[in-house]
Amino acid sequence: MLKLPIYMDYQATTPLDKRVLDAMMPYFTDRFGNAASKSHEFGWYAEKAVGLYRSKIAGLIGCEPNEIILTSGATESNNLAIKGSAEYYSRKKKKIITVPTEHSSVLDSCSSLAKKGFEIYLLKVDKFGLIDTDELRNVIDDNTALVSIMTVNNEIGTIQPVEEIGRICNEKNVPFHTDATQAVGKIPVNVNKMNIDLMSFTAHKMYGPKGTGALYIRSRGPKVKLVPQIDGGGHERGFRSGTLNVPGIVGFGKACEISIQEMSAEYEMIKSLSERFYKGISLKLDDLFINGHPEKRFPGNLNICFKQADSGTLMMSMKEIAISSGSACSSEAVEPSHVLKAISLKDDEMRTSVRFGFGRFTTVEEIDYAVEKVAECVKRVRGIFNRVLQK
Ligand code: PMP
Repeated sequence: MLKLPIYMDYQATTPLDKRVLDAMMPYFTDRFGNAASKSHEFGWYAEKAVGLYRSKIAGLIGCEPNEIILTSGATESNNLAIKGSAEYYSRKKKKIITVPTEHSSVLDSCSSLAKKGFEIYLLKVDKFGLIDTDELRNVIDDNTALVSIMTVNNEIGTIQPVEEIGRICNEKNVPFHTDATQAVGKIPVNVNKMNIDLMSFTAHKMYGPKGTGALYIRSRGPKVKLVPQIDGGGHERGFRSGTLNVPGIVGFGKACEISIQEMSAEYEMIKSLSERFYKGISLKLDDLFINGHPEKRFPGNLNICFKQADSGTLMMSMKEIAISSGSACSSEAVEPSHVLKAISLKDDEMRTSVRFGFGRFTTVEEIDYAVEKVAECVKRVRGIFNRVLQK
């Protein structure tokens, strides 16, 4: 039986997998100890669980467990990677290279560094959101402290050439940070194969709990240096003080374990659902296109422009389907998305773009329902637009 509303906003967050919840439960109740308590069994159990599940997180991205610094999520990981590197190099190097399509936690960390005298260099992106690796090669200089470029874009799904970016940074001896929040658990990511030095990711985008994330920090070949941004008891090898969120870490590790086993089959399933959806609506509607790269993309993210169908009105008209628009509403105005702006969409195209997100629990039945509903609502909203134009 089809259950409404249908969740199609998998880039905002994912549902918690029941298997993840089952793994977490004991650590809320009987095994509630503090992983830093060395003097009794409660602490030992918690510490053992953190060790076990940390290694599952490391296993998913191909690093050593001690290279995983547990945080509260990707926002914190991005802040630590960027501000921590900048602070470490601040006497000698003052330039950070990034991209205008990054998540706000990267761009705002850079803005705060700009106020402290850092130069923030924004690479150009093409109409699909891809960087030009020749430009990157040319702008890295002796003053560059860090390159920060995301793996998969959260709004349009475009996948950057991370392996090549890693190779360039490695050749030039500059640390490379990637925000892989929308990639880990969905496409293969290996920090050694891709020459990644610092990598942010988070549990709640891969069927784990909210409030738990990680920063991978390369410890060898070469060792990456950072200044901690949260001081205190010296947890996480001094990089991030604060009592560990044991149930969250167990859930994160369990989510990684499931991804290792199921990622490739799940990717194919999501790809086929996404294609079914786009084919379905394309047969019923004209004047639509996909934002982002046609092939170099994560298929579970489908950002579509339905010309002449205002995204706000469209979303209001189909409340049975939970999706997201390309605009962020502030208290005063609806701001167009900085990502859609950066890929040079026209104003009216930005206003008529919405993001559909598919994932582990999306069904064929949901896709078929959404195709009918979206086509019907887009036609209705376009009808209103045309009537207003005629007046
Ligand atoms: N980076 C990207 C690309 C994201 O999509 C998100 C979540 N919207 C974040 C960072 C922030 O993650 P968190 O919610 O774990 O702070």
